[in-house]
Amino acid sequence: MSTDNREDIRDRIENKRDDLVDLVSELVNQRSVTGNEKPAQEVVSSRLEARGLEVDTWEPDADELRDHPGFFETSSYVEQGYDDRPNVAATRDGVGDGRSLTLSGHVDVVPVDEDEWSYDPWDPTVEDGRLYGRGSNDMLGGVASIIVAYEALDELDIELAGDLTIQTTVEEEDGGPGGVLSALERGYQPDAAIITEPSGLPNIGMASAGVMYFRIDVPGKSAHAARGYAGVNAIGKAAEIYRALDELDRERKSRISYEPAFRQNPRLEGHETNLNVGTIEGGDWPSTVPSGVVLEGRIGWPPGETREEVRADVEAAVREVTETDEWLSDHPPEFEWVGWNAAPHELDTDEEIVQLARENAETITGETTTFGGGSGGNDERFYNRYYDIPCPSVGPRGENIHAADEYVEIDSLVETAQTLALTAVDWCGTAE
Ligand SMILES: [Zn+2]
Repeated sequence: MSTDNREDIRDRIENKRDDLVDLVSELVNQRSVTGNEKPAQEVVSSRLEARGLEVDTWEPDADELRDHPGFFETSSYVEQGYDDRPNVAATRDGVGDGRSLTLSGHVDVVPVDEDEWSYDPWDPTVEDGRLYGRGSNDMLGGVASIIVAYEALDELDIELAGDLTIQTTVEEEDGGPGGVLSALERGYQPDAAIITEPSGLPNIGMASAGVMYFRIDVPGKSAHAARGYAGVNAIGKAAEIYRALDELDRERKSRISYEPAFRQNPRLEGHETNLNVGTIEGGDWPSTVPSGVVLEGRIGWPPGETREEVRADVEAAVREVTETDEWLSDHPPEFEWVGWNAAPHELDTDEEIVQLARENAETITGETTTFGGGSGGNDERFYNRYYDIPCPSVGPRGENIHAADEYVEIDSLVETAQTLALTAVDWCGTAE
């Protein structure tokens, strides 16, 4: 493709800046907290249908996915199933035998604590070149960039040689099997994919963390507090387990290091792996020795260890407490891995799709790409780990994901859409 045509694509997208901002706002308005993805998916499908695309809409089927090594029952699936939680995909057929590409994003967002926000999380505010709203950065901004990139190519009548699929999915925030995994199993298996998670263009994401949740049911024995000699305090026993897990966390942090994580965020150095006890529930009365406590936690870790190795580490730490405690050795805690169950992944940055995205991102932003990742779980792993489809994260800059006053930088949205459009042209090729 000539330099002129490349400039046309960039200009066309630049001229769509307001449209891009409006689309992000409209998507944020849908309050698509995991489990309530449908309204946002309807915005996406009607937008694609308006371009004459045939839109495939389907609800995931847990039973069809169950035997896949990447599948687990997400908490939102356990609570409400997959009814009314559609995925969306539409393919524009290539006119030649070019390589196929999928541009994909998740439409679900995490909940908000409105009291913490200085802006309305569901009715975005534009201020100083930023758009504030829940999901603006993670990752409705990226979703809108995909759509606008597609629309620009369509308006310029650019015929790609390979198939281009636009895809939006559910429940990434919950682990994603009903989203990207379901799309892959439905047959959407391109030669390469890009997910527009907020990588902070020109930076590109090439790794994700393993994430698993666990639950420990710690038994005690109830008694009146004044006759405490007859009871066993489960909170005290749980505290010992907590200390052992905390010690394990420190020991793991001292031996596990992953440079791409702190290239992306310098503050992560020394914290690439993390073990967090997030909830504790137990006891029912100040004057009763508690008979049971439930701890729930999460362990995250960078590429380098398998899920089996990490499970063994955590279970061994708990077992050590159990075996050395008189009560617990006779009444062992019940240990369960529940919910999130994702293996980490790492993508070779020499992959052509990564290098094409990098060249375009660097040209467009005038800055140098850093390859980062490996501190959070994400959908890219499904492509990279299980289907051998290279899939980097290429998305906008912003801040405060999962926090108050989340925002995306509007210039970066435009640059993301430009990078996507040009990378699609480079990867899929164009008609002679
Ligand atoms: Zn995300």
